[in-house]
Amino acid sequence: MRLEKIRTIKGTIRLLTGLHIGASKDTIEIGGLDQPIVKHPVTGEPYIPGSSIKGKMRSLIELAYFPEKVSNGKPCSCGQIGCPVCTIFGAAGDNRAENLGPTRLVVRDAYMTETWKEKFDSGDLPMEEKYENTINRITGTAEHPRPLERVPAGVEFEFSFSFKVFEGDKEDFLTYLQKGMRLIELDALGGQSSRGSGQVKFEDVTLDGEPWDIPDNIFNQ
Ligand SMILES: [Zn+2]
Repeated sequence: MRLEKIRTIKGTIRLLTGLHIGASKDTIEIGGLDQPIVKHPVTGEPYIPGSSIKGKMRSLIELAYFPEKVSNGKPCSCGQIGCPVCTIFGAAGDNRAENLGPTRLVVRDAYMTETWKEKFDSGDLPMEEKYENTINRITGTAEHPRPLERVPAGVEFEFSFSFKVFEGDKEDFLTYLQKGMRLIELDALGGQSSRGSGQVKFEDVTLDGEPWDIPDNIFNQ
């Protein structure tokens, strides 16, 4: 298999509503929020893990275009040549066909743009604490609210994808990326999306440095 080129997709992710991408529970401090967001271990700045973007894109693409490949809510793991999901997003395990080649898409962690990073560094960008009431199903009374940490609406992150093109790859592989971005806009990133968190917009998208707007009719392509 010959690697023909590596394409670069870049742009901005703007938060339209607060974003909650949960950190693992073992990082919680005593007396801290019980639902904290992921932060860079050294700088403390919030970021969007590449795995969150990639995982969401994959699951929405599977649901929209390859529902027959999703079993028990698990990602496709057929690993077969010709499966766009396994080729673009990767397939683990024994099923992986030898000449499927490397996973085409690499999604890097998305950090805040310079402007927002400066605000954060100077203390002008506090994270939001949202209190979520839950109703006890048996007593019908409100439980003690659990504070949910979110990156506030408006904040912008820089995203970067790298996309390998091998000899013989279908042209429409890249189209799935645009479909995936649009599907994320229609759905959400992170947790608590059914309560309105994680609405985002992909902006100023470029492909190898050239403007690469998502067409309005992307779902008909
Ligand atoms: Zn597959």
